[in-house]
Amino acid sequence: MTTLEQPLVKAVGPKAAKKLAALDLETAGDLLRHYPRRYAQRGELTDLDSLAEGEYVTVMAEVEKVQGRRITRKPGYILEVTVTDGSGRLTLTFFGKGAHIPERDLPPGTRGLFAGKVTFYRSGRGVKRQLVHPEYKAVAGDSADAAREFAEELIPVYPATKGLTSWQIADCVRLILDGADLGADSLPDKLRKRHRLIGLAKAYHGIHRPQDMDEAWRARRRLKWDEAFVLQTALAQRRRASAELAATPRPAGEKGLLAAFDARLPFELTEGQREVGAEIAADLARTHPMHRLLQGDVGAGKTVVGLRAMLQVVDAGGQAALLAPTEVLAQQHHRSIVAMLGPLAQGGQLGGADDATRVALLTGSQGAKARREGLLDAASGAAGIVVGTHALLQEHVQFADLGLVVIDEQHRFGVEQRDALREKATGGRPHVLVMTATPIPRTVAMTVYGDLDTSALTQLPAGRSPIATHVVPAGNRAYWDRSWQRIREEAGQGRQAYVVCPRIGDEEGEPPPDASEEEARRPPLAVLDVAPKLTEGPLHGLRLGVLHGRMHPDEKDAVMRSFAAAELDVLVATTVIEVGVDVPNSTVMVVMDADRFGVSQLHQLRGRVGRGRHAGLCLLVTEAAEESKARERLDAVASTLDGFELSRLDLEQRREGDVLGESQSGRRSSLRLLTLLKDEDIIREARTEATALVDADPELREHPALAAELAALLDEERAEYLEKA
Ligand code: ADP
Ligand code: MG
Repeated sequence: MTTLEQPLVKAVGPKAAKKLAALDLETAGDLLRHYPRRYAQRGELTDLDSLAEGEYVTVMAEVEKVQGRRITRKPGYILEVTVTDGSGRLTLTFFGKGAHIPERDLPPGTRGLFAGKVTFYRSGRGVKRQLVHPEYKAVAGDSADAAREFAEELIPVYPATKGLTSWQIADCVRLILDGADLGADSLPDKLRKRHRLIGLAKAYHGIHRPQDMDEAWRARRRLKWDEAFVLQTALAQRRRASAELAATPRPAGEKGLLAAFDARLPFELTEGQREVGAEIAADLARTHPMHRLLQGDVGAGKTVVGLRAMLQVVDAGGQAALLAPTEVLAQQHHRSIVAMLGPLAQGGQLGGADDATRVALLTGSQGAKARREGLLDAASGAAGIVVGTHALLQEHVQFADLGLVVIDEQHRFGVEQRDALREKATGGRPHVLVMTATPIPRTVAMTVYGDLDTSALTQLPAGRSPIATHVVPAGNRAYWDRSWQRIREEAGQGRQAYVVCPRIGDEEGEPPPDASEEEARRPPLAVLDVAPKLTEGPLHGLRLGVLHGRMHPDEKDAVMRSFAAAELDVLVATTVIEVGVDVPNSTVMVVMDADRFGVSQLHQLRGRVGRGRHAGLCLLVTEAAEESKARERLDAVASTLDGFELSRLDLEQRREGDVLGESQSGRRSSLRLLTLLKDEDIIREARTEATALVDADPELREHPALAAELAALLDEERAEYLEKA
């Protein structure tokens, strides 16, 4: 008997197995979890007129006309079979001697399934859709099986590829369904009863070979539950494990750096900052490590919240590390924290306050001397706060007493990296605070970040002026000129601007743009081309600086410093400025080829302007046509400042897998049916159930099937979706 772990070669034979491998399907279980995309029903008419060029399709239609003729050109014979769904028509074209076979197989009136790649044949009379040499299968022919299938059942339509039709996949699936031991059910009986879920074997049959849509729906619901439940069990175990860990409590004191810092703050904390601050302060005082996610839209003032937590820990005798995703951001944090702390950061220096600490910086590429100093300050405990990039994760970085890790802009850091930092604490685990401006829909928070408690800063500090965003069609000369004119005006008032381009422009070593999509398009605009053109042209006379990821870190730092000091009027940059950069004097941002950026990315980018007292303006320059999808996205960004709304839109437009980090690894996501946006109910219920189950049976001793699934999941996909994102 076939088991789910068995390689497909055994189950379906080498030929089919080889083709299935192209779909990344290796085992019988993989194939069973390759679910139909939809079902074709008897009498359901595939809308032939809506087939898109280049698509691989499987359609059901009836042969209307068969016409073979000799042609003088090679290969001498052509057969055209016209099929119809009642309204639209599709031509099946076969050439050469072999064309006599379909001519025999497909007499008018035959109903069949046809599969192939849609091509458009353009002639004087318009566009004709055709499939050249399609695979076909008559469904009401002489095969009794096929006839019954056609009469009674829904026909599953699988995501297929070249060389492998939907019905070939269906045949392989059937072999396995009929012959395999579908394994023990990983959902406990009681849970299934409570939520009215069908059994696993029934679900596999129901999703692949449903008798009716109801059955298919019940099967899908059950299998979605599996996905949600295994994931939530993993997260519940994680939460439980970390709740059991010991951490050194770091309660707030009456006096000390935090109090002194609060007294020096040039502004009032917002209500949200105070509330979240209190939450964190309480967490830090506990004997178990805090794992908290702080969400707050761009400009909400997360840094101050993080810094206050760090100061509390320093006051309690520990150290805090602040981890930033880029060098630019690490340097900026270091600079601004030192500035905000003033004498409080001048520990051991003349003029420093009595209980002053030091703020060390550690990045991958700083000079040997600076680095040695930083390492020493961290290891000796002289630095209460250590700011850095992923260089902080390296083995030889040591802390005297690491009490808190603050991770800024989490979406670039995975759980594994969080763990690497936690390892650096000696007595017990450090507390962890993750900050992100990428607003995360609730369902994502419950899955990808499901092992964290969450807090949110929902308002922006008072006195912010809203950012106005406009889409600028690149072809419109007047708008174009006006954009640069606006920058000149702002510069005339002493304010600053960003110009953002999608590409650096020193082709060597630059990863090729996504070939599939970009093929037909010109390469995106590049910083190194745009900057000189602006200097010579519309921004002549202004002081321009250039910033991109491949500059030397010292150079980057120098440019950021002069921009922050207003020695530059305009910064022409790549997305290195996407997150965190805080220069409140900048008021205008022009994004070139804006359609090449994602929705959330644009929202992040524009958050760089309008951070001070003056109104911000963001111009999205694009060549995208008025009615295009790309233009729609830009219009959406222009129409709202609600990052939450935009992240939903982003999520809708991107594949779920991308959200879960799949795109980075190219692997299949373990979420096949579950969609984060639509299955909130299932995710929530599964979370509750999983938490209860793990509380009652932390090791899953009474649930061996679930434990096995979990082990497989963690083995295979750990890095993929729990930890990347
Ligand atoms: P983000 O949440 O995007 O990281 P920052 O922490 O960089 O935002 O804060 C953005 C700006 O707002 C900074 O210049 C910061 O000093 C300022 N800021 C933070 N909190 C307040 C407040 N309560 N009142 C006024 N300005 C504030
Ligand atoms: Mg920030």
